Amino acid sequence: MEIIHFAAECYPVAKVGGLADVVGALPKYQCQAGHYAKVVMPAYDTRFMHQNSWQNDYQGYIYLGNLELPYTILRESTNKLGYDLYCVYIQGLTDRKNIYSEHDDTERFFAFQLAALDWINQWQHLPDILHCHDHHTALIPFLKQYAWKFQKLRNIKTVFTIHNGLYQGWFSWNKLHYFPAFDTWKSGLLDWAGTINPMSSAVRCADAITTVSPSYMRELQYSSYGLEILFQQLSYKCYGILNGIDYEVWNPATDTYLDKHYTIDNVNEVKAQHKQEICETFRLNPDNPLIAFIGRLVHEKGADLLPQAMGQAMYETQGRICFIALGSGSSQIEYELERLKIYCPGIFNCYIGYHEALSHKIYAAADFLLMPSRVEPCGLNQMYALRYGTIPIVRRVGGLQDTVQDIGEWEGFGICFQQPNVLDIIHATHRATYLYYYNFDFLKSLRQRIMTFDNSWQNSQRKYEQVYRKILQEE
Ligand code: ADP
Repeated sequence: MEIIHFAAECYPVAKVGGLADVVGALPKYQCQAGHYAKVVMPAYDTRFMHQNSWQNDYQGYIYLGNLELPYTILRESTNKLGYDLYCVYIQGLTDRKNIYSEHDDTERFFAFQLAALDWINQWQHLPDILHCHDHHTALIPFLKQYAWKFQKLRNIKTVFTIHNGLYQGWFSWNKLHYFPAFDTWKSGLLDWAGTINPMSSAVRCADAITTVSPSYMRELQYSSYGLEILFQQLSYKCYGILNGIDYEVWNPATDTYLDKHYTIDNVNEVKAQHKQEICETFRLNPDNPLIAFIGRLVHEKGADLLPQAMGQAMYETQGRICFIALGSGSSQIEYELERLKIYCPGIFNCYIGYHEALSHKIYAAADFLLMPSRVEPCGLNQMYALRYGTIPIVRRVGGLQDTVQDIGEWEGFGICFQQPNVLDIIHATHRATYLYYYNFDFLKSLRQRIMTFDNSWQNSQRKYEQVYRKILQEE
C-alpha cells in the first residue's frame, strides 16, 4: 500500500511531544513491512532542515482567500529516516523556529494542507491512503472530498488519528473564504457549535478514526471537549491502537545520548552509574530512590500537582527520597518548581526547558518515573521507562492504564493510582520508597523483567494495516 502521512511534527525534524515520535516511527515500520509510506510536513526553520540536504521536487502556488502563496516541496535527499520525507515550504508561514505560534496557526496549517493536496493533485499515480494526524491536518478529508479542485482525489481513503482531543483547531466562520470552492451543501460538515472545527470535520469525513490507545478511545465518548456525541454515534469506524516506541532510537544498549550502555544482564550495575552521574550533576543524594518526571508542565499532565506532592513526600519521608523534573510549560508551575529547588537542596532539582539528551539520561538513571496525568491519550514516557528498566508510577487513565499493571496484581510491574490528586501521588511514592528500601532485590528483578516487554511498532503497525485494508475493501 502507498500511505501518505500528514503531520505538523515528525522526529527528528521537529518535535514538541509524542506526535513527533509517532510520525517519525510509524512510516519507518510500515516501509519495513513492505509498504510505501511517506511523510509530508511543513518546512520549519529547525536545525534538521539546515543540517541536511534537500531536493526541490515541485513548485506551485495556492490561494488562501485572495492571497496568492507560492510553495515548494522539498525532499530529504538521502532517505536516511527510512521513508521519504517531504517538507512544504511556504515563505513567511512555515519557515519559523517555533512549530506552533499563537496568532496565525490557522493560516499556517490551512496553507500547508492546501499546498500538500495541490501537489498530490498533480500526481499521475495516486496513493491508497491519506493518513492525517491531529487537527493541523484535519481539513484534508473534507477538502479532498468536497473541494472541486481536488475531485481527482475523491476516491482515496482517509484515516484520521487523534493524538490529543483537547486541541481541535477551531476557528471562526469569518475565515470561510480560505476554502477553495466546494460543494456548499456540505458546509455543515465543517460546523461544530457555531465555529469551523477541523477535528470534528475529520471525525465525520474520514473513512476511519483512530486514536492512540483503546482506553482513550472509550474516554473520548464521554469526555472529548464537546465532541462526545460524535464519538458515540460514529463508534463503528473508531479504533484505539496503542502507539509503539522506536526501538532503534530508544535502546539502552545503543542509545547515542548515553555514554554507558546496558542490557538486561547489567542493568542494575550500569543504572547505578547513570544515577550517580545525574545525582552529581543535579546535586542530589544518590542513596535515595530517584523519582523522575519528564513532560510538558501543563494541567493535563497533572504537573500542577507536582510541587505540593513532591514537597509533602519529601517532608513525610524525612528527606529519604529524591525527585528530578524535566519540562517546560505553564510559567506558574515552572516558578513553583524553581522555588522548591531552593528549599529542598539535595533532594529535589529540576531543569526547566526542552532537552532531548537529558531526557534519555534521566530515563536511564531514575529508579521510578512518575506520570500523574489527568488525561493521557497514550503516553510514551512510561514505555520508554520500561525499556530503560525504570519502574513507572502512573495514574490509571488512557494509555497508561493499557500499558502499566500494578505490582499488586498478577504479573504486575508498576505502581498505579486512581485519582489525579496530591494524596494519591504521595501514597504511590510511599509504595515506591518501600519497594526501594525494603524489597530492593525484587526491584532489581523487576527492572530486568520490564526490559523484556515488547512495546515495539511492529504490533501497532499490523493494526494500522488492518484498518487500512478494511476501509480499502469498503465501497
Ligand atoms: P505529549 O502529550 O507531550 O505528546 P507523550 O508522552 O506522548 O506526551 O510524549 C512526550 C514526549 O516528549 C516523550 O518523548 C518525552 O520524552 C518528550 N519530552 C517532553 N518534554 C520534554 C522535555 N522537556 N525535554 C525532553 N523531552 C521531553
